[in-house]
Amino acid sequence: MTASIQRFLDGLTVASVITTVVDVLLVYYLVYRLLLTIRGTRAAQMVVGIVLIGAAFFVAQRIELTTVSWLLDNFISYFIILIIVVFQQDIRRALGRIGQNVLPFGRRQEATHTVDEVVAATAQLARARMGAIIVFERDAALEEFVDDATRIDGILTRQLLVSLFVPAKDNELHDGAVVIGKNHRIDLARALLPLSRATDLGPEFGTRHRAALGITEDTDAVVVVCSEERGEISLCFKGSIARDLEPLMLRRALVGLFAGGRAETMAEEAAAAAEVGKAIASMGEPRPETSQSIKVEASRS
Ligand code: ATP
Ligand code: MG
Repeated sequence: MTASIQRFLDGLTVASVITTVVDVLLVYYLVYRLLLTIRGTRAAQMVVGIVLIGAAFFVAQRIELTTVSWLLDNFISYFIILIIVVFQQDIRRALGRIGQNVLPFGRRQEATHTVDEVVAATAQLARARMGAIIVFERDAALEEFVDDATRIDGILTRQLLVSLFVPAKDNELHDGAVVIGKNHRIDLARALLPLSRATDLGPEFGTRHRAALGITEDTDAVVVVCSEERGEISLCFKGSIARDLEPLMLRRALVGLFAGGRAETMAEEAAAAAEVGKAIASMGEPRPETSQSIKVEASRS
């Protein structure tokens, strides 16, 4: 026993240790990125299913259930093709983002530009009392949570954003939400979002605000909502809503969330949350009834 340990230690060189460490770190990073990408999505449930099938396969082989392991063996090879077909769009996006991620400076500039356009559009919408929901897609793909949307795939400009919400009879797109994709383009308009499950919302929260909040309960999306009735701007994420933000405060909060780097770890997310808190705190004296942050429900802790 000791001899074999000795042989093993003799075989270890600095290079082989470094290679092993790099190998383990790479796998760790890849799994971590994958989990970040799929968390909060239905793909996460699928991964649980795959792990269960893998475990069943392992057990079946171990206790020599030949027919079951033959069946699972064949099923797994088809399953891989099935996954590639079902998730082809997400896989394409993920590969595209690998390229983006090695250019953090460009990404930050792009994020700041996106935030500026959204803030300018929201300020104009609020002044004109036009209702709006603007959803930022982050890690979780939103398409599966959204019903009945119209694809725009347009360059993000404040003018286009405002015009998508003009409540004219002939503007078919004005109802529902606009979704800004991970590629910083206006991806969807007239999107129907899932309504919030929270039961303790005030009477001033109609379906618009419930929808804005709802999508943040199931995903990591960040949502800016503008009230038609009150001309009030709010920011929703992780099932919480920060109400009655001035455009400048909205900008600070969004820059904290996006341009300061994507909130990748829980610590960064907490810092981003604090940024929103600070934004609200620095609004000065709270106006009765309106200036407040309501913790509705923390969907993730
Ligand atoms: P406001 O303060 O602007 O009046 P509200 O929270 O009181 O908003 P409503 O007055 O009910 O909400 O707003 C109705 C509008 O909300 C609809 O015309 C539509 O544009 C939008 N809306 C309603 N349901 C959804 C949904 N599921 N997804 C996206 N948008 C929705
Ligand atoms: Mg209303």
